[in-house]
Amino acid sequence: MIRDQETLNILLDSIRRFVREQLVPHEQLVADTDEIPPTLVAQMRELGLFGLSIPEAYGGLGLTMEEEVLAAFEIARTSPAFRSLFGTNNGIGSQGILIDGTEEQKNAWLPRMASGEIVGAFALTEPGHGSDAGALETTAVRDGDHYIINGTKRYITNAPEAGVFTVMARTDSSRKGPSGVSAFIVERDTPGISLGKTDKKMGQRGAHTCDVIFENCRVPAASIIGGKEGQGFKTAMKVLDKGRLHISAICVGVAERMLDDALRYAMERQQFGQPIAEFQLIQAMLADSKAEIYAARSMVLDAARRRDNHEDISTEASCCKLFASEMCGRVADRSVQIHGGAGYMSDYAAERFYRDVRLFRIYEGTSQIQQLVIARNMIKAAEG
Ligand SMILES: Cc1cc2nc3c(=O)[nH]c(=O)nc-3n(C[C@H](O)[C@H](O)[C@H](O)COP(=O)(O)OP(=O)(O)OC[C@H]3O[C@@H](n4cnc5c(N)ncnc54)[C@H](O)[C@@H]3O)c2cc1C
Repeated sequence: MIRDQETLNILLDSIRRFVREQLVPHEQLVADTDEIPPTLVAQMRELGLFGLSIPEAYGGLGLTMEEEVLAAFEIARTSPAFRSLFGTNNGIGSQGILIDGTEEQKNAWLPRMASGEIVGAFALTEPGHGSDAGALETTAVRDGDHYIINGTKRYITNAPEAGVFTVMARTDSSRKGPSGVSAFIVERDTPGISLGKTDKKMGQRGAHTCDVIFENCRVPAASIIGGKEGQGFKTAMKVLDKGRLHISAICVGVAERMLDDALRYAMERQQFGQPIAEFQLIQAMLADSKAEIYAARSMVLDAARRRDNHEDISTEASCCKLFASEMCGRVADRSVQIHGGAGYMSDYAAERFYRDVRLFRIYEGTSQIQQLVIARNMIKAAEG
């Protein structure tokens, strides 16, 4: 749903300009230093990028899902590490509070996330539980007006920068599955939280993950999202449905950028006395990429509109995440191929993007998990 086309166009234009004039020229610096310059972070705050999907009542821009994916297409035309910094505030770091939190919780946290004053992170994965997150082992034991949290969370995006975590922990140890899990809002400064070393990753340098360790960490009982035990896994899944659409839109945007670079290279690079773009085998790679990007873009827009229409988009979100992330991997691979030897060299963005986009098939549910969700939903629907 687009509320006001003119206002949206102004926003999309300013994002496009910011990406082209500020972010793209800093891509290599961020990859080399593993840090996003503070001046760029300040500009991201000014543009409202930390609060794109947080409602206006809490200081955000309150974009609808359709508007958000259109913004994501633009944001993603540069290194995905930039998006990662404000991505958790719009997505997995804030949405649990927004979707299922009490009014008090929303008022306490969302305005600070929307302004970018604090960064939010989402702590579900554990050393022993990734895809099988419903079996997580971190515990939260009630003690009077508090819960005591113990456990380790792994690969948590923006944990080194975070001011607040949404933490999924087991409040009912008699239930081993998802129904024993609750979601908590936990301030970074709470005693009993420590961070592991920042992980060394394959790509997306400038975006950081690490372990978050809870040792007898006491949090007020009021920090349980929605005030009810046993709802935490459902909250996490609702957050991920939206997150999967957002990531799918990012896959489309990055793929468009990679294809633009590949096309430009193919038109400039000469072999056998002519630009390689004249060769039909190169054209096939360009055309396949174009068609697949168009398919993913159309899927993402359709699913976003359905979500704005309050439809259950669990299946569609997984279809988008599966197709768009795999598509993005294929486009990255073809882009390297079109660049030839240059595509293997770190002087060219193709090499960096090839590593950066590999993550999209893994986090927020691997491709295999998306296949399982889709098939499971199909069977459930057929059983009536
Ligand atoms: C850079 C990065 C950032 C991340 N950020 C966050 C974050 O902010 N918060 C957070 O909570 N998590 C985060 N994660 C964790 C991420 O969501 C998990 O890595 C992912 O869900 C996969 O879990 P796993 O790594 O334990 O792999 P596993 O679950 O061990 O999977 C290994 C392989 O087995 C396959 N597999 C597993 N189960 C099945 C099955 N039933 N059928 C078929 N195949 C199966 C998987 O598809 C995969 O190919 C991040 C991960 C990375 C790498």
